[in-house]
Amino acid sequence: MSYSLNMRAESTQIVAEKVAISWCFWQSKSEYGKHNGMTDTVSSVVRSKIMSRVRSKCSKAEVMLRKALHARGFRYRVNRRGLPGTPDLVFPRRGAVLFVHGCFWHRHDGCRRATTPATNEAFWTEKFKRNIERDARKIAELEALSWRVGVVWECEVLRQPLGPLLDRIAVFLTDPEGVLKPSDRDHS
Ligand SMILES: [Zn+2]
Repeated sequence: MSYSLNMRAESTQIVAEKVAISWCFWQSKSEYGKHNGMTDTVSSVVRSKIMSRVRSKCSKAEVMLRKALHARGFRYRVNRRGLPGTPDLVFPRRGAVLFVHGCFWHRHDGCRRATTPATNEAFWTEKFKRNIERDARKIAELEALSWRVGVVWECEVLRQPLGPLLDRIAVFLTDPEGVLKPSDRDHS
């Protein structure tokens, strides 16, 4: 019995991933903020499941940053569970973690990617508010555990060249007292 239940859970998972990936693809093609069709056609439970998959799948910036830091000789753990907020990159020996925040979900202030969809505005406003509160709470929890927390915005990574950002991150990682201030906004 548990075998068939597992099978079913697995196939549900696969379907959810396929939906998330195709949405991810579509969203990146059509730029942020135009995904209202999805909002109107799926239930809120399904939508919220899909969104959580998208959040973990749609991180081109995260992959780019990982590769660039690796090329600079930094070694890290990825998405380490058991730490508040599951930081994207964890540097255990350096006592530091990095989040690569998507500008849309995490509301990069003043950034052109941080649009608000026109339909279901109340839903999105509430959703974004909760995201911002959760981010602040998770950072505080990490700091209470003596981790140094750096936040990098998606648009900072996607904006080339990466060099200046990598320099700032390198200082943050190598200086035991280092802090990483996110840059304000995307002017591109
Ligand atoms: Zn941004």
